[in-house]
Amino acid sequence: MSEYRKFISGIIPPTEKTEPAWWFAFQENKLLVYQQPSSVRLPYLVDFSELGLKALRQNYLGRLDNHHCYAVEMAEGVTPPAGMAFEGLRQVYGCLDEDLFWIAAPAVQIVDWDRTHQFCGQCGTQLRTSTTERAKECPKCGLLHFPRLSPAIIVLVEHGRELLLARSRHFLPGMYSVLAGFVEPGEMLEEAAVREVKEEVGITIKDIHYFGSQPWPFPHSLMIGFTATYAGGEISLDDTEIEDAGWFTVGNLPPIPGKISIARKLIDWFLAKQGNSNIDPKVT
Ligand SMILES: [Zn+2]
Repeated sequence: MSEYRKFISGIIPPTEKTEPAWWFAFQENKLLVYQQPSSVRLPYLVDFSELGLKALRQNYLGRLDNHHCYAVEMAEGVTPPAGMAFEGLRQVYGCLDEDLFWIAAPAVQIVDWDRTHQFCGQCGTQLRTSTTERAKECPKCGLLHFPRLSPAIIVLVEHGRELLLARSRHFLPGMYSVLAGFVEPGEMLEEAAVREVKEEVGITIKDIHYFGSQPWPFPHSLMIGFTATYAGGEISLDDTEIEDAGWFTVGNLPPIPGKISIARKLIDWFLAKQGNSNIDPKVT
């Protein structure tokens, strides 16, 4: 994963709004967009008030190619103007410009954090927004509150020409993917990868190499991807988490995740290595 995005994060908005900006407005984690026949478009306005919609809270996000970006929280029950709708982020992926999509991802997390961090968790005082970092500080006890991030590892395990894929109980019907799990306190990322694979399918792995990372806003994960090779053991399922798991070759792949996910980028990496990057596996 070598592409780096053009977005420059920031917390201090311009003193005056004089040029159009991108507005990421959310109502219950759904993004306000203009609907077009085969795509969606974001509001691009000098000020959000031009839409005539009442915003509860607003956060400055930063700049994309020198265009300012803002996140807005809408009240429940606000009706979108004609031609606009609130859409889930998974639904707009592929329909919205990809650079803008990957700003929408932190935008929804910041809106959620702002809404749920109005008061200090230690002393109950109303928090104020820090002017030096993406944080809120308590004016009474000084406690800092940062947006929550939950690191999770995701690991592709290969064994010769085979690839380990598993079905979690909460996946879409029929879909298989590589294994993933949250990192526990005190754990190195590689240790988390070894533990997850052992816990979920009973096998041991070796040659663990960093692959890349991806923010995953459902709701606030940071996925850290690894590749690994099989070291030993037989597949034995953790029934509470995993419904099925097995070794698959390029020729017998089950339905796999869509291109939005790092899971798919890992699987595509394996397919390319097998010399089959031009096949089009079933996608859910
Ligand atoms: Zn406090």
